[in-house]
Amino acid sequence: MTQAETVACLLREIRACRLCAEALPLGPRPVVQASATARILVAAQAPGTRVHATGLPFNDPSGDRLRRWMGVDRATFYDARLVNIVPMGFCYPGRAGRGGDRPPRPECARTWHDRLFAALAPPRLTLVIGQYAHAYHLGAERGATLTDTVRTWRRFWPHRVPMPHPSPRNTYWLQKNPWFEAELVPRLRDRVAEALDAARADLADGGIQADGAHRARRKEKQT
Ligand code: SF4
Repeated sequence: MTQAETVACLLREIRACRLCAEALPLGPRPVVQASATARILVAAQAPGTRVHATGLPFNDPSGDRLRRWMGVDRATFYDARLVNIVPMGFCYPGRAGRGGDRPPRPECARTWHDRLFAALAPPRLTLVIGQYAHAYHLGAERGATLTDTVRTWRRFWPHRVPMPHPSPRNTYWLQKNPWFEAELVPRLRDRVAEALDAARADLADGGIQADGAHRARRKEKQT
């Protein structure tokens, strides 16, 4: 089975998942965008209601802000050959009592994430968005708080970029931390453009480099 077939097979399994259906107020609707060739990973939190309704990740004001931060248009963002979008929870988890959404369902990462990331090409650039993605993708390297982790973004540069969630609910955080949009965002845009150029070159090369990267990572794991 080719890498592309492995990813397609896994995505079919994920989209049929009903593992925590009873805990999901709107029922299961896994939203994920992934391909074997994409080398930019948007590692996010979980869909909101509008994303649940449309089945399209970041198809909401959070997505508008995220695309502005990345300096990409919708066509690029939704090109699965270039960008993988893998939230920590694939389905809308429901509203929290005090406003905002509940955390991503833990069953999701336990069941799917290690398998999915093993099948994808290693990302050149990972946008690590929000505290749940920080915990999974940065682990013990993250700071005591989300702000600490994001403020020390240079520690993870240039391959991982810890970020706050782009939700309108975080506008106050952005106002309190103007260095994020003044310093980090312009650097992020440049990195995204570089990674996209490299990804397009891979595609023009017939995906050979992506397959090579899979082989290299498997070999690394074996040694
Ligand atoms: S949240 Fe994850 S584990 Fe739960 S039903 Fe959706 S895909 Fe399955």
